[in-house]
Parts: sequence; structure tokens; C-alpha cells
Amino acid sequence: MLSIRNLQIAFRSGDSLNPALKGVSLELGKGETLAVVGESGSGKSVTALAITRLLASPPAVYQGGEIMFQGQDLLKVSDAELRKVRGGKIAYIFQEPSTSLNPVYSIRSQLAEMIILHRQDVADIDAEIIRWLDAVGIVDPAKRLHDYPHQLSGGMQQRVMIAMALSARPDLLIADEPTTALDVTVQKQILDKLRELQRDLGMAVMLITHNFAIIRGLARHVAVMYRGEVVEYGETDQVLREPRHPYTKALIACIPRLGDHRKRLPTIESITG
Ligand code: ADP
Ligand code: MG
Repeated sequence: MLSIRNLQIAFRSGDSLNPALKGVSLELGKGETLAVVGESGSGKSVTALAITRLLASPPAVYQGGEIMFQGQDLLKVSDAELRKVRGGKIAYIFQEPSTSLNPVYSIRSQLAEMIILHRQDVADIDAEIIRWLDAVGIVDPAKRLHDYPHQLSGGMQQRVMIAMALSARPDLLIADEPTTALDVTVQKQILDKLRELQRDLGMAVMLITHNFAIIRGLARHVAVMYRGEVVEYGETDQVLREPRHPYTKALIACIPRLGDHRKRLPTIESITG
């Protein structure tokens, strides 16, 4: 469904071009989950945003490659075509609910806007909103309709953001570190919920994280990014069992085990000597 081939993106700074993606290739099948794992600055978000051309250009420069989605190259389609894809067919959730939720509108009006824009089949909008808030695990959703984002906890805001993204019934959800800001228990609840909804909707998910520990059991395939390149790709269980690239070994070595509070990420130099 999604096939990124040899994507190259750089950022212009004065006279120089700093490469951010140096030929990234990724595949994602219908209804599947791909985890993209890598340390901060490795190019995960640039990849995510590039898929629907959300990077401001300048400074971003698309230097080459293609992004095939449902049979068309998103790097070549018109802006009008792209607007139909964004939100409707490809939806995003981010680490910060504030990037998606607008503080001056109620939960109801933000979800309604999404549904009106992307769903022609919904007659009773409030009922649909309540159904989605319930689906993402918000208790007593009818009473929350007129709340504003600041009246909800971080975890609840994250759930509303997921409800908003999914209410358009996208074919692909790109989740960029969706739970990084939350504590571990809430993270797990939200990721479990996301997986349940994914199954119901038959939606594909690109789950971006710097944390290898959370993807086990969530993503069938994993791509490991390092300095703008995919250095390892494979089935998650296989990669966790037998990582080939030194950087993947380093990432796996720092998955915390029970009673183990190491936080430092081993550097690639310390592994390769
Ligand atoms: P991450 O894996 O943490 O999500 P990013 O994809 O955000 O990393 O960043 C990859 C590289 O691209 C980094 O070196 C970053 O500094 C650079 N970069 C990202 N966005 C911009 C921008 N708007 N302008 C200049 N450089 C950027
Ligand atoms: Mg990022």
C-alpha cells in the first residue's frame, strides 16, 4: 500500500545542504504495522512528514526518490489531490496533543470538523463523536463533548487526538512517538487501544518510536534508522533475536530489563570499538 523508494531529503542552511534522509526505502502492506525505530535526529519525523509533503520547502529540499501510496507517487500528485490524502487517507498523531488539538475549540467542534470534512456517510455527528470517544476509552463521553483540551489530562488529550485521527477512517495512520510524553502505564493502555482499533478498522500503522521496548507484540516489521538511513529491516521478532547491524545491537542492549535502570544509550563507537 505504501512503498517509499530511495527517498532523499536535505535541509538548506545558507549555502549548504545538510542531508537528512540519504536514500530511505520502506514498505508497508495493507492493515500491517511497521515500527520505525531510531535515536533522536535519525530522520524518523522527516520521513513521516515527507510522506504527505508536510515539510516546509524551503528549507526542505526533496532531492529524489518516490512515495508510492495506493498506486500514485505522492511526490508528484497535485496539491488538491494531496489534500484529499492528508487526514482522509493518511492521518497523523504526534507526541504532543497540542500539535493536533486547538485550545480554543471544544472537543466536539474539533471532532465534528474532521468528520464533516472526511466522512459523507455520517448522519448523526454527535452520536458518531460519542462513539469515537468511547472507542478510545474516554469514560462518560457525552459529558466530555463540550470540554476544551486543557480540561483533560495528557493521556485523555492523547486519546482525543487518536479519536480525531481515526474518525476520518484513514487507510494509514502515522503515529510519531505517540506516547513518549506519557507514563508507562498510560502508554501501554493507549498502545493496546490503538492496536485494537487498528484490527477493527483494518488500517495500516507506521509506529515511530525511539524505544525498542514498546514495539514487541505491536509491529510485525521494524525498520531501524540511523543518521538518515535505514540500517536494518526485518520481522520484529527476528531483529530482536538476531540483530545484524551494530547500531541495532546497541539499541536492543539498552532495552531496560526488570530491575535494571540503565538509561544511557551505548554509542555506536562503543560497540564497534
Ligand atoms: P527524529 O528521528 O528525531 O524524528 P528528525 O527526522 O526530526 O529526527 O530529524 C532528522 C534530521 O533532520 C536532524 O538532523 C534534524 O536536525 C534535521 N531537521 C529536521 N527538521 C529540520 C528543519 N525544519 N530544518 C533543518 N533541519 C531539520
Ligand atoms: Mg521525531
